[in-house]
Amino acid sequence: MVHSRDDMVGLDSSIISSPKVWEASGHVAGFVDPMVDCKVSKLRYRADQLFYAKVELVDDGGVVGYISLLDCGDLQGEATKLAEKLKRKGGKQGTIKLPLDIKDMTKATEDELVLIPSPATGEPGSLTPPRSFNLMFQTSVGALSDGSSTAYLRPETAQGIFTNFKNVQSTARVKIPFGIAQIGKAFRNEITPRNFIFRSREFEQMEIEYFIPPEEEVWEGFYSGWIDTAWSWLTSIGMREDLMGKEVHPKGDLAHYARACTDIVFKFPFGQVELQGVAARGNYDLTQHQASSGKSMEYFDEAGKRKYLPHVIEPSIGVDRLFLALICSAYAEDEIVGEKRVVLKFHPSMAPIKVGIFPLVKNKPEIMEKARGIHDQLKKRYNVFWDVSGAIGRRYRRMDEAGTPFCITVDFDTLEDDTVTVRERDSTKQTRMKVDDLLAFFDREING
Ligand code: ATP
Repeated sequence: MVHSRDDMVGLDSSIISSPKVWEASGHVAGFVDPMVDCKVSKLRYRADQLFYAKVELVDDGGVVGYISLLDCGDLQGEATKLAEKLKRKGGKQGTIKLPLDIKDMTKATEDELVLIPSPATGEPGSLTPPRSFNLMFQTSVGALSDGSSTAYLRPETAQGIFTNFKNVQSTARVKIPFGIAQIGKAFRNEITPRNFIFRSREFEQMEIEYFIPPEEEVWEGFYSGWIDTAWSWLTSIGMREDLMGKEVHPKGDLAHYARACTDIVFKFPFGQVELQGVAARGNYDLTQHQASSGKSMEYFDEAGKRKYLPHVIEPSIGVDRLFLALICSAYAEDEIVGEKRVVLKFHPSMAPIKVGIFPLVKNKPEIMEKARGIHDQLKKRYNVFWDVSGAIGRRYRRMDEAGTPFCITVDFDTLEDDTVTVRERDSTKQTRMKVDDLLAFFDREING
């Protein structure tokens, strides 16, 4: 996205910036999640991840009651089980009206709220209405710790791009359309961090702000172009397309300044959820920073002899979430000569270890030395793994589990003709190859 394009500049901005940045961007006032508390268990839930349904019987058989449950892979299935349980507990007869009308807690009316059970206790009456909770982590800067020293750990990398827009544009001498890309840590006080690395309080974000002219007719082309670019990049690094999808945000759910937003979603084992967002954000952020700082954020268009505040398209993805989707895409079980194998079929460019290097035996110094030489040479370029313990088959299997695409075995023949066995992870095919040809081979396979 950065090095192979001419219209992109990489940036590394600070994690802690002036709190005024977060006031201007609207995060201090508005970066909130609606939360629901259970007054009995003291547990707190994100209102859009806590679901409820009214359980009714068919043929006007009456209302059984309400059930509640947390976000999961099969909401309807789990909710139906809870509804049946509720019916049995209440000693009711009849058939439950299906499918259940499942809603999240942001939709609960005051009347419903007292009837919905807490997922922690199973009893109704303890849930509060959704209340806003700011997700930003606060810290203090300087020696004194009072209101004036409050600062925030960035909840996204994007604002660092906006505040540096003029610096980057003038020093890198780029012309619109162009993008600024940033990868770095972001922090959010998530109430329900879970699902392994899917949602955490400290995560790595990759964001691009792609600056475009303000004319109404241009943004849609750039917007759909970025959705396509994001999609094909994800598939090029081994994301399983059959598990991917797109969800277009309905116009009514968009932030007031946003023109459109599409999520690329992924079917994780715990459900289909957002992997990456692509949003057309208008010129909201630059407008806000310009107003708050009193410094012009305008771009001078030399060709058109005019000044304007550019609009942006924002592709944004969490690296951790991306890795989880890659692991889910790569996980496979198969059988090799009658033995069950677990293998991570990572694309070679994504595999954390690129090559495993094994001397066939450890008690032959010439073989050890030759293998060490190959290891030391490859190590300069790739992350490689040295393994001398156990039978060769076991060593292959360990590398399969780690998703290592290639293994090299140095044996007695190597000493005669300078060839090694290169074993490929997915097909388990073994090829004899000259040591001198290894670097070119791996370069082709890994870097494409
Ligand atoms: P969600 O609805 O899942 O909380 P979001 O809509 O708040 O996500 P954005 O603010 O659009 O997410 O952030 C952009 C990207 O950053 C998301 O698509 C996701 O990949 C990643 N991301 C956001 N929050 C987290 C988190 N707590 N842990 C890991 N990745 C995250």
